[in-house]
Amino acid sequence: MNANKNEATAVRGDSRLVGSSSEEEPGAKTMIFSQNEIPIQLVSNRSSEFMHRYFPLTTIDSWNDWKWQMRNAITSIDELKKIMKLSEKEIMAINNLKGRLPMRITPYFASLIFDTGYSHPLRRNVIPVVEELLQSSSEQSDPLHEKSSSPVKGIVHRYPDRILFTVTQVCSNYCRYCTRSHSVGKLDKLGKQDFEKAFNYIATHKEVRDVLISGGDPLTLSDALLEYIVSNIRSIAHVEIIRIGTRTPVVLPQRITDNLVNMLKKYQPLYFSLHFSHPAEVTDECAKACNKLADAGFPLGSQTVLLKGINDNVPVMKELMHKLLMIRVRPYYLYQCDLIPGSGHFRTTVKKGLEIMKGLRGFTSGYAVPTFVVDAPGGGGKIPLIPNYVVEHNSEKIVLRNYKGVLCEYPEK
Ligand code: SF4
Repeated sequence: MNANKNEATAVRGDSRLVGSSSEEEPGAKTMIFSQNEIPIQLVSNRSSEFMHRYFPLTTIDSWNDWKWQMRNAITSIDELKKIMKLSEKEIMAINNLKGRLPMRITPYFASLIFDTGYSHPLRRNVIPVVEELLQSSSEQSDPLHEKSSSPVKGIVHRYPDRILFTVTQVCSNYCRYCTRSHSVGKLDKLGKQDFEKAFNYIATHKEVRDVLISGGDPLTLSDALLEYIVSNIRSIAHVEIIRIGTRTPVVLPQRITDNLVNMLKKYQPLYFSLHFSHPAEVTDECAKACNKLADAGFPLGSQTVLLKGINDNVPVMKELMHKLLMIRVRPYYLYQCDLIPGSGHFRTTVKKGLEIMKGLRGFTSGYAVPTFVVDAPGGGGKIPLIPNYVVEHNSEKIVLRNYKGVLCEYPEK
């Protein structure tokens, strides 16, 4: 465990009433809050128990410092074994990850899984199992062929009017089903010249009106580097919107500081594309982070990967979508899992995805229904799929089946 032995004496309060000072409240000491008045920075009962047990010398202020969370991320089997019992499948996988997507779990996320069983959905998100080492013939390291659509380092230009800009390969947690597992987690940083070339590429392509800053996770960068990137993109007149693709509100909610939010607010219109996979990820800390972003005026959307045994049924998916709306995150895409190496144990059939969509549409608010897409292998782009509601269609009429199975006609003349 990387617990910093030099940390000040741990704060041990009533575990039902835990909060902290924050950088927004200079000089404030540890504060106590009831569960009903969620503070700007908070530690849930669960995280508090975990922190006291496994990082006993750490203060709540340190726990709520995203850089402390990054520094103390669990990356080795020895660290992981100290907080939880591992299965043989997990041990074998972690010991054989060489050259593959590394393991990395923030203490915050570890506090959500440390006492879970082997098949717990959040645990499966971050702890590899031996099936991950198996590769089938349909799987490829870069299934979306992003490398061949990359004119300059960091840029993927596939669609006519928008660009993906991968600004870092680092994430605070590594998701075992990551589409970019071929590059994420590797030491391949962009230097100043690379950034300048990327800005220049965007500036000289006047058709680009939308830039998605992604990675890795861009919010693992410092505020200063992030501002350098965002301000340069915002200074390009034809760029209308900037999006930031990040999972930090889910795995490192401490990252959503007032400083970050106030800095980014200068560069509106700026959207956040978040990434959720299970309703249990929507904790108080995550809700607070999302609400802070929403309060600052950033539209928030969520992408979810359809994952076998994690979210591949209607009740779980519906609960996730409802919880997202409660924290002002609009469900955006539901992705069929990409064909990355070792993803067989995560992938469902496309039929399963369509069944889930059928179980959502009509049975809940339209806002809670994402678009189900297959990101076409080989770089074909996102292709939307919907259950078949058309029974008959000719020049006279269209016959449709509604969500209850009732047939309805609409004239074409
Ligand atoms: S946060 Fe995104 S980029 Fe990072 S490992 Fe997860 S899916 Fe991949």
